[in-house]
Amino acid sequence: MATRGNEPFQRSVHIKTYGCQMNVRDSEAIGALLMRHGYRVLTGEEGADVILVNTCSVRGKAEDKALGKLRLVVASKPMRPGRVVGAVGCMVQRLGVDILKHVKGLDFAVGTHRLSTLPAVIEAACEGRGPLVDTGEEESETESLSGHLAGSMSAFVNVLLGCDRRCAYCIVPTVRGREWSRPSENVLREVAALAGQGVREVTLLGQSVMSYGRKNAVWPVDYKSDFGFVEPLPRLLEAVGRIGGIRRIRFTSGHPSGCSEELARSMAMVSGVCDHLHLPVQSGSDAVLKRMRRGYSAEDYLAAVRRLRAAVPTLALTTDVIVGFPGETVDDFEATRRLMDEARFDNSFIFKYSPREGTPAADWTDDVSPEEKLRRNHILLEDQDRRGIELNSACVGSLVEVLVEGPSLRNQERWAGRSSTNKIVIFDPRETVNAGDIVNVLIERVGPQVLYGTVKEVVLS
Ligand code: SAM
Ligand code: SF4
Repeated sequence: MATRGNEPFQRSVHIKTYGCQMNVRDSEAIGALLMRHGYRVLTGEEGADVILVNTCSVRGKAEDKALGKLRLVVASKPMRPGRVVGAVGCMVQRLGVDILKHVKGLDFAVGTHRLSTLPAVIEAACEGRGPLVDTGEEESETESLSGHLAGSMSAFVNVLLGCDRRCAYCIVPTVRGREWSRPSENVLREVAALAGQGVREVTLLGQSVMSYGRKNAVWPVDYKSDFGFVEPLPRLLEAVGRIGGIRRIRFTSGHPSGCSEELARSMAMVSGVCDHLHLPVQSGSDAVLKRMRRGYSAEDYLAAVRRLRAAVPTLALTTDVIVGFPGETVDDFEATRRLMDEARFDNSFIFKYSPREGTPAADWTDDVSPEEKLRRNHILLEDQDRRGIELNSACVGSLVEVLVEGPSLRNQERWAGRSSTNKIVIFDPRETVNAGDIVNVLIERVGPQVLYGTVKEVVLS
């Protein structure tokens, strides 16, 4: 507990998060760690003694957003004496001590590997010993970052840290370090604890999650899977599926090279594994995929999709695509459009290529103009809307099982949840339906990314 004068008081912290699910997970773990050190975690920044901004480096725009936010909160310090402001995560790791040049008045900055040192760093900053920067390479003790905040029905669980793939455009391996898989025992202990707190859905996270257990052993040598699985990830799905209370299991992000027959079989066999996979393709052109160093061709990708769909015919697929990668021609782009139609993506996230200093692609000419990147981006979004309507229309008239999240973000009068296929389902609230319930919803109409319907029955409350 901190002291003000001689009086003990409880410090409060607000964490603002940018970036991917892994950053969301890190922010939650930081919140849980700080709570164990006596902090209150606030959902709003008003009144917070400590403001932490968890940053993303994946595109220039993501960094600009985090820098803008940091400058704003630093400017709020005179209005709130005693407040300290810190940055954590990927951008801090990338910039190192230079972050202090970008954000004047920042009290501390801690990189991706050193998050468990935050309680001590914040304490020092509050005592006026800042600015402090720690972007060391030595890994924090990961288990001190396995805590969760109570109250949610869904949780992210890290299973694979870092990334060894080194795609030509990507800064992630530089800022998140070498691939390392958490021992299955630790992951299972964490999931069991979550189930004990009432969590019903877990998402197992890794930048390339299908590499789980490939570089370091995660299972005891004499481990036997009931289903006879020998690959580490299928075994993990099976073991998580046996934990009482866990009704839904997701894992992300996928890579086509990891879509083995056994993984496909495990998705079909393990009850609770959702009918959805996020499988970033990035491009449909072999020439571009090669330059991106993705390690597969368009045909390899489609073969992986066929393998998965043969085992799980109801599988929904989502993807990431980069438009305007160096040297991407109109023909390359048209190949991407064709692949996207053939793979029948339920949703896609389209990114305009952004050169990242220190990556191989940053040395190549960024030769697709911003206007052309925007044009290609719009075309893929329009294609996706058309495909989304076509695919979702097949759901009209069917009952879809939904994990209820609560009031919809867009319209608080209506409620929202997610299907096993990860589609947002909107329905009218009912007195008997609460957040965390599993309900069956009759789908009446659809949008490109949303299903609308009426709750017919509560499956589990
Ligand atoms: N590990 C995941 C994978 O391999 O697909 C995702 C990593 S990254 C956090 C999320 C997405 O950002 C990528 O799939 C890619 O589409 C996009 N991305 C990464 N680097 C980018 C860059 N330099 N410019 C534009 N988009 C980028
Ligand atoms: Fe980046 Fe490629 Fe690793 Fe994904 S797999 S994090 S895109 S290097």
